[in-house]
Amino acid sequence: MIPQANPGAGYRALKGEIDAAVARALESGWYILGSEGRAFESEFAHWLGTARAVGCGNGTDALVLALRALGIGPGCAVATVSHTAVATVAAVEMVGATPVLIDIDPAHYTMDPLELAGVLAHPPAGLPPIKAVIPVHLYGQAADLPAIMAAAAAHGAVVIEDCAQAHGATLDGRKLGTFTEAATFSLYPTKNLGALGDGGIVATQDAARADLMAALRQYGWRSHYISTEQGINSRLDEIQAAILRAKLAHLDAHNARRQAIAAAYDAAVPAGLRPARRAGASHVFHQYVMRLPERGRIQQALRDAGIGSGIHYPVPVHLQPAYQGRVALGPAGGAESARACAEVLSLPMYPELTDAEVGHICATLRILLP
Ligand SMILES: *Cc1c(COP(=O)(O)O)cnc(C)c1O
Repeated sequence: MIPQANPGAGYRALKGEIDAAVARALESGWYILGSEGRAFESEFAHWLGTARAVGCGNGTDALVLALRALGIGPGCAVATVSHTAVATVAAVEMVGATPVLIDIDPAHYTMDPLELAGVLAHPPAGLPPIKAVIPVHLYGQAADLPAIMAAAAAHGAVVIEDCAQAHGATLDGRKLGTFTEAATFSLYPTKNLGALGDGGIVATQDAARADLMAALRQYGWRSHYISTEQGINSRLDEIQAAILRAKLAHLDAHNARRQAIAAAYDAAVPAGLRPARRAGASHVFHQYVMRLPERGRIQQALRDAGIGSGIHYPVPVHLQPAYQGRVALGPAGGAESARACAEVLSLPMYPELTDAEVGHICATLRILLP
């Protein structure tokens, strides 16, 4: 069976480098917030093109740190999308803010800027003021940042890019994560840059904001044992940081391999079912997502041919049991998000897929999707 994601293959491909990095971290005798973490933060910021980056426990906490550092909490609403990992919306509620979920543009699966502008101009009754907007660069492709940032700026709302699926993707030649006040990345094992455990990082151009996030991630300390903020505990450990340094050196090549696999899939998938590319954007294919009205039949036929697939995501956030009937929505009521959840299917996508495996997947797609 070819799995849909394969973090173990990612480890085995770099086993020598990763084992050496882990041994170095273990031998150092320092396991939390030390030289590996500092080096990873500066190497990541340099790779991305931001002044600073602050490591933390996971991508959800990265959003929490960004929201807290931008002063978003109780009494604020935050506009984001319903078609995302639940983590995006969970983070908004973790800081005590109120989410309002905007529908997606169904071609690109990212926030509909027109609905956002409408909700900012005429917010749902009873909602606190919308102080922040979190677009998600879903599947590895940019949201419509220029339109989203213009709408947010017109209403004085800050923007935080959720880049958990978009490490290395660009818009108009510039890396996602460099456009807004802060940008967050998950380093979960299957992400384009993945640890072998949990991890996250927040990037910003503002040194004071980075210092505040670094304090917030560890009990609000700016110096040992003195809490100047009400902090949390969300740290990136030294073993994961050492592993991530080794993997960061391969990230651009890994993204190029994902793009080559996507090009091969494109040649085997009928035009109407292929993922759309946004003009001016480079897509890093965290997922290669087809749109199939007959999804169940195709998924079973792929399984019968030894090909795994995934559904990202089966249920939009506003229809999940923990959120249904409770979260505010834009005027479209999340209709396109719900429609997408019923039809999306993600093909196997990881850099270690072999050419023979890609060939088998493409040959199977040509038979199944004439
Ligand atoms: C993975 C992901 C997150 C959460 O990251 P964790 O590291 O699992 O906490 C947030 N947003 C999006 C879009 C994600 O894909």
